[in-house]
Amino acid sequence: MMLYVSTRNADEKVTASQAVLKGLAEEGGLFVPEQIPALDVPMDKLKDMTYQEMAYEVMKLFLTDYTEEELKACIRNAYDEKFDTSEIAPLVKVKDAYHLELFHGATIAFKDMALSILPHLLITAARKNEVKNDIVILTATSGDTGKAALAGFAEVKGTKIIVFYPKDGVSPIQQKQMVTQKGDNTFVVGINGNFDQAQTGVKQMFSDPALASLMKANGYQFSSANSINIGRLVPQIVYYVYAYAQMVKSGDIQGGEKINVVVPTGNFGNILAAFYAKNMGLPIGKLICASNENKVLYDFFTTGTYNKNREFILTSSPSMDILISSNLERLIYRIAGNSAQKNQELMKSLQETGAYTITEEMKEQLASFYGNYASEEETAAVIREVYQNDGYIMDTHTAVAAAVYKKYRNETKDGAKTVIASTASPYKFTRSVMKAIDDKYDKKPDFELVDELEALSKVKVPKAVEEIRTAPVIHKTVCEVDEMQSVVKEFLKIK
Ligand SMILES: *Cc1c(COP(=O)(O)O)cnc(C)c1O
Repeated sequence: MMLYVSTRNADEKVTASQAVLKGLAEEGGLFVPEQIPALDVPMDKLKDMTYQEMAYEVMKLFLTDYTEEELKACIRNAYDEKFDTSEIAPLVKVKDAYHLELFHGATIAFKDMALSILPHLLITAARKNEVKNDIVILTATSGDTGKAALAGFAEVKGTKIIVFYPKDGVSPIQQKQMVTQKGDNTFVVGINGNFDQAQTGVKQMFSDPALASLMKANGYQFSSANSINIGRLVPQIVYYVYAYAQMVKSGDIQGGEKINVVVPTGNFGNILAAFYAKNMGLPIGKLICASNENKVLYDFFTTGTYNKNREFILTSSPSMDILISSNLERLIYRIAGNSAQKNQELMKSLQETGAYTITEEMKEQLASFYGNYASEEETAAVIREVYQNDGYIMDTHTAVAAAVYKKYRNETKDGAKTVIASTASPYKFTRSVMKAIDDKYDKKPDFELVDELEALSKVKVPKAVEEIRTAPVIHKTVCEVDEMQSVVKEFLKIK
């Protein structure tokens, strides 16, 4: 059986379902699989599988205490008509790269890939572990996780969900998507602060013993829908295997041929899933980590020092406006030789000084990573250029990846076939996307731009956007960073 161990305490080991249920380990650690399992189905077989079939083959290796029936039911309930294509994650060739479109789910961003299955994994885990409490999902969002988690958990019996988002740090469409969310068990709060403050506030509530006992006394317990939950990471491994299999199937690559993967990165969850896929034996060469102007990860990969002491920049790719990339801790733990103690020391330094430096020996193990970043101008330019040359319109996050890929190609002349993780529909960031194409659009109202985008891209307006055109605002709560805990208590009616 596969067990999960905390990155901060070698003695804390749990099963997969317990890790999903808890979200975060004690002392703020993250759960990691004790070892990465090898992909045990040959590519020749994988290439003819549906997304759902492949999801089972990959996830069963990690979630070993779920029965076949349970896991297959979770997969069936997640990857269904909520997605607007039966391919679930189509691979689209655009010039010299393959765009893995991860935005065909209910909320048109890649978070749907994991958050449409997490509620099912969690409810199943609660049943397996005989949990009687109601589960309260506490989530900080830089814009996309919030809506995807709300959509996944709305009206799910035995759960409540509370989402905190930076009030002035998300796109107008993202905000509208969240504040119009229906469901008595949903609660959305804007905070006067940035994503890192929201995430830190949520982590503090998770590790507050007084709050935990108050919750327990009232029949509640917390869990997390953030990408620190292993139940989000595991489903994300699937689409890298799927992309590779599609390329083998179409004859674009030979089985065994190495591909590169470019991932627009914020909290380091998506690219970590690609790293896990590589460690399972998927032939991935370079893992290209693309940042926006909040380039803390680029600096880390080039210098070996992680330093969050810098200005927080609001960019046109808000879901990547992050200075504390939580999932990087899982990589640090690994390159520290799976040492909870060494990892703990570095995380302590991060907490106390805002920075840490890894050893040369650890740095050598990062050879398969390449980090770079794109400025706001470079991001806009690549959107404009690809639209003009190829008629394909990317969202701002994907554009950061495309711009970084261009830099990588120029620098290295590496001609390996490359997959770009295409993380959001351009409709989610309509204003920034249209403005990148032509400044003249910036004067028009949001929903007029939606129609203009449809005319230019010839891609139909997604249902997720149609729905919010006229939807009433339901959630109006705004709070200060230090009021987050009292807002939670109020919502749950506990004192
Ligand atoms: C969340 C998100 C990212 C960043 O992904 P991480 O897993 O946090 O690195 C990139 N693009 C979009 C559109 C997102 O929603």
